[in-house]
Amino acid sequence: MISEKFLKLKRKILNEVAENFSRVDEISEINTLKVLNAMRELKISDAHFKTSTGYAYGDIGREKLDELFAKIFKAESALVRTQFVSGTHALATVLFGILRPNDELISVTGEPYDTMQTVIGWKNPARGSLKEFGVNYKEVALRNGKVDLNAVKNSVTAKTKIALIQRSRGYSLRDPLNISDIEKICATIKSVNPNCVTFIDNCYGEFVETAEPIEVGADICAGSLIKNIGGGLAPTGGYIVGKNDLVELSSYRLTAPGMGNELGASLGTPRLLYQGLFLAPHVTAQAIKAAIFAAGIFSNLGYNTRPLPNDTRSDIIQAIELKSEEKLIAFCRTIQNFSPVDSFATPEAWDMPGYEDKVIMAAGTFVQGASIELSADAPIREPYTVFLQGGLTFEHAAIAILNAAAILGAKSC
Ligand SMILES: *Cc1c(COP(=O)(O)O)cnc(C)c1O
Repeated sequence: MISEKFLKLKRKILNEVAENFSRVDEISEINTLKVLNAMRELKISDAHFKTSTGYAYGDIGREKLDELFAKIFKAESALVRTQFVSGTHALATVLFGILRPNDELISVTGEPYDTMQTVIGWKNPARGSLKEFGVNYKEVALRNGKVDLNAVKNSVTAKTKIALIQRSRGYSLRDPLNISDIEKICATIKSVNPNCVTFIDNCYGEFVETAEPIEVGADICAGSLIKNIGGGLAPTGGYIVGKNDLVELSSYRLTAPGMGNELGASLGTPRLLYQGLFLAPHVTAQAIKAAIFAAGIFSNLGYNTRPLPNDTRSDIIQAIELKSEEKLIAFCRTIQNFSPVDSFATPEAWDMPGYEDKVIMAAGTFVQGASIELSADAPIREPYTVFLQGGLTFEHAAIAILNAAAILGAKSC
């Protein structure tokens, strides 16, 4: 039971963020129309939801879904598959598909997401990494948390094959890139080397704004279907969208040279991918409202939050500095406790492969690890920042967040 004090706080915060919520609703309406129109134009029908088996040659559901993603992202082609085991797999498929020995990859958004560092293999030597295949790697450090365009200009050369640009903050405290940042970064890269492939790690960014990276100069993007774009229904998978030749090269890495996008059984999932895509603008808006609400409640209680409640959002992640290990653990346990699945489980901090500090994770989700569902993660280190994301419905997220607030109380106590 939430006390009257916290119900009052909830009303106060909802009042304070009302304008931001309307902005989120407007974006969701525009993106819903974008998805709806694409589905109407491509005449999506029941026939596309049929399951396929074996090689699945001529699977019209698979082919149409690729077309649909391409249309929505304004890309030449797309590769949307449950055969991608995760977002990292889709991103790695692009890198391994395009890069050849002695090519140069550059990350212009500082250190990439942890799992991508393993794929690249320069910081954490890993078997099977790009490094083992002789791909060279450079990183442009952020400057005051922002992409350093001058340094990008000086670091990209005629030899640079791919520039990796991470849209979301991931689990760092830097700001996510908005679409106009991405436009400037791509233009800067192309001004030095027009042939350098601008590649966006689009995880957590889809449908947060009304335009997507391909529209502002990105050549190729990839992401996960169990984040924004799967709408909470996609059971697994990833996607790649971009220029024809680049998506084709990636397809030979996903399957095999000569096979590319022509094989891949759908195994009963097509409707969930279509229906999830249809819901995705709305579900993403629910998650953003959850993030805004959490920022509102916890800043009111005296905690530092990034972004601030009324900041414009460019991804669905909310960071909250909880300042103590006990509070951090209590926060994650409360989110878990107010989850529809595994509410009885007690998250513990553990040594996760690839991370320096212990990590605690709360995820009582229908789809294992789906971070479009309400979830919270944190490395156990100062200032004990928790990263909260997702929420299929705002109502659920608000209940969990308010309960966490009631348990943690104000920063000083
Ligand atoms: C989630 C995420 C990924 C991919 O993670 P998976 O768990 O493999 O889907 C990559 N980059 C960023 C920025 C992410 O947020």
